[in-house]
Parts: sequence; structure tokens; C-alpha cells
Amino acid sequence: MAAPGLRLGMEKLFEMLAAMGRQSRAYSKSQTFAEVLRLPKSQLTKLVYPLQELEQHLVPDTRPHLHLRVFDPSLEDIARAESVFAASQRNRIEYLSSAVRLDHAPALSRPEVCFIGRSNVGKSSLIKALFSLAPEVEVRVSKKPGHTKKMNFFKVGKYFTVVDMPGYGYRAPEDFVDMVEAYLKERRNLKRTFLLVDSAVGITKTDNIAVEMCEEFALPYVMVLTKVDKPSKGHLLKQVLEIQKFVNTQTQGCFPQLFPVSAVTYSGIHLLKCFIANITGNLN
Ligand code: GDP
Repeated sequence: MAAPGLRLGMEKLFEMLAAMGRQSRAYSKSQTFAEVLRLPKSQLTKLVYPLQELEQHLVPDTRPHLHLRVFDPSLEDIARAESVFAASQRNRIEYLSSAVRLDHAPALSRPEVCFIGRSNVGKSSLIKALFSLAPEVEVRVSKKPGHTKKMNFFKVGKYFTVVDMPGYGYRAPEDFVDMVEAYLKERRNLKRTFLLVDSAVGITKTDNIAVEMCEEFALPYVMVLTKVDKPSKGHLLKQVLEIQKFVNTQTQGCFPQLFPVSAVTYSGIHLLKCFIANITGNLN
């Protein structure tokens, strides 16, 4: 059963979602989140606030100074962000174009966020999950590593652009250097870079190259841990703590909070959408 505070908040939220329904078509798309809100509290926490769920497994006395959560939005804010990511006639979410070189990239003034990661880390699957309320958007998901050779630009209404960058590692190192480096270094409207790391594997040598690049260009970036449904809870916790330590001690530009996500269970996806809506100035 939901705690009294949470239940009260949820009642308010249902009212808000209903009001959204009276105002715009976005409500029908937000219904999925209304369903999420009806989940039992433990399931809701696991899905929407995965770090909070993991924190419960830490021994409090041994880690008194470890604050895993910095960005901790309310369910109302998360619902608001859902409507940003819900396609409607008024809020068109669509593939814009692809580019193999920065000078072929569309000239846009909207804020932009990009996703980088080694091949097979789960980048296409994550972007697809972010666009689950825009089913007409086609994001290619391949079983073969290294398929994404282009930068793919997706427009999210009037709000911002999402860029899917070529995967690095394996067979695509040249693409990475030629395209990704130039893009990261020169794209003026780039607000945040999301660097994907496989939660079952941890930070690899190839991931480190991307970290070094973000650090060298003094970019604000965020580490997203993919496929959190795969490792056991114990292994996941170990990885989260190790990667958190890495972020705290070895990086300057990395956001201090990790974002664990699963494109299979959708764990952490709502929170990530809310973070993106927030940093692109679209949460108010
Ligand atoms: P990309 O090369 O980084 O775009 O990776 P893909 O999105 O194509 O995913 C690579 C492989 O990992 C595919 O077989 C996906 O089905 C699998 N995968 C992606 N995300 C997840 C996830 O969240 N959980 C699990 N269990 N598998 C995933």
C-alpha cells in the first residue's frame, strides 16, 4: 500500500493528468504514466527512482557520506516531462535528418542533447524507449555492433533535439574521431552529452576514451548505466558504487548522479526524460 504522503501526491497528480486531458491531446499519451502511478509503492520506486531502490540495499553506517541522488524530482515534474516526450499534433516528435559530418548537421538553435556510447551498449534501444510515446519515430535497433555510422537528429516538438551519435569501439573508431569529436567540440547548442556505460560490464577502456574527450573539451556530461535488468542486484550495486567512485574522483565535468536505465523494463526512463526536460529548460 502507498504511504499516506505518496498517496496524497498521487491524488494531486491524477487531478493534474485529468486537467491535462481537458486541455490537450497529450493526456491520452500520458495515460501510461497514470498507470505507472497505480503500481504498488515498491514497484513504482523501482521503476521511477531506481537509485532510491538500490540505496535501500546499502549498509547505512558504512556509507554515511554517499549521496547517490542529486536530481530528485517530484512525480508531478516527471508527469510534466512525460508530456514533453508525448507526440501529438501540437507536439511533433520526428526524425529530422542524418549527417556524416558536422557541416552536414542541420543548423538548429533549439537546445540539443546527444547520446554517445560504444557499439552494443544499448544506445538505440534507450533512444527508442525515450520515444515510446512517439511510436512513429523510427530508431534503428540492430543486433550487429557498429551499425550507426551517422549522427541522427530527432526533433522533440519545439523543445529540443536529440542526437544519436555513431557507436564507438569495434569497427567504428574512425567514425567516432571524425564525427563525434568534431560535434562535441563545436556544436554550439549542445546542452548535455549522455555517455552510456553497460551496467553489467562497467567502464571499459573504450568508455574511458569518451570520458577523456568529454573532460578535455570541458563538456557537461552525464553517465547513463544501461541494461540494469541484466546483472543481479548485487552485481549492479557493486558496479554502481564503483562507477560512482570513478565519477567522484576521476572526473570534473560529469554530473554527480548516475542514471541507471533499462530499455526492457523501462526502469529509470521516466527520470531520465525528466532530467532532459529540466536541463533543456522545459520543466516549467
Ligand atoms: P547500440 O549498438 O548501442 O545501439 O545497442 P542496441 O540498442 O542495438 O542494443 C544492443 C543489444 O543489447 C541488443 O541485442 C539489445 O536488444 C540489447 N539491449 C539493449 N538495451 C537493453 C536493456 O535495457 N536490457 C537488456 N537486457 N538488453 C538490452
